[in-house]
Amino acid sequence: MFLTRLIYVSTLCESCDAKALDDILDISRDHNKQSHLTGLLSHNQKYFLQCIEGSRDAVNHTYNHILNDHRHNNVTILYYKEIDSRQFGDWSMGDIPQSSLTELLNLQFSASNQFNPYEMSGESAYQMLLELKQNLPSE
Ligand code: FAD
Repeated sequence: MFLTRLIYVSTLCESCDAKALDDILDISRDHNKQSHLTGLLSHNQKYFLQCIEGSRDAVNHTYNHILNDHRHNNVTILYYKEIDSRQFGDWSMGDIPQSSLTELLNLQFSASNQFNPYEMSGESAYQMLLELKQNLPSE
């Protein structure tokens, strides 16, 4: 089965607080380990930017669950590609909090210094996640 990488952006719902975020990361890590999925979840108080890598079936199946999750909305795919190898294989779901999303990094990959992945191309979002993983310890 082909390896696939998917990146999407979404908007947090008001109810999505720190506790909800912990729940999301816990369930993601459990499910993703079982499905051999890997990736990163970056977020500030408004937006999620997530990358998921794995078999095409597992990526599509999980994305369909994510799409129906009430803790976020306006889920928009930025990037979907068959790939030769994983780039985020060290994390079942790496957590990239707001503090890592510096103005400099936002400016490098988007039109402003604010974290707003809706304004990024898929390639910019991917390159930004590659940059962010450099400082993220393996799980
Ligand atoms: P169920 O557990 O049956 O839940 C059904 C719905 O109830 C969910 O869609 C959600 O809207 C709501 N819900 C579930 N748990 C809670 C809770 N603790 N508090 C409030 N509402 C709740 N899952 C993965 O497996 N891998 C991922 O990489 C992944 N990434 C995610 C990223 C984001 C930004 C979000 C919001 C969710 C992510 N999830 C991920 C979780 C995924 O959306 C599903 O909740 C999870 O896969 C369980 O699916 P389910 O249909 O069995 O949901």
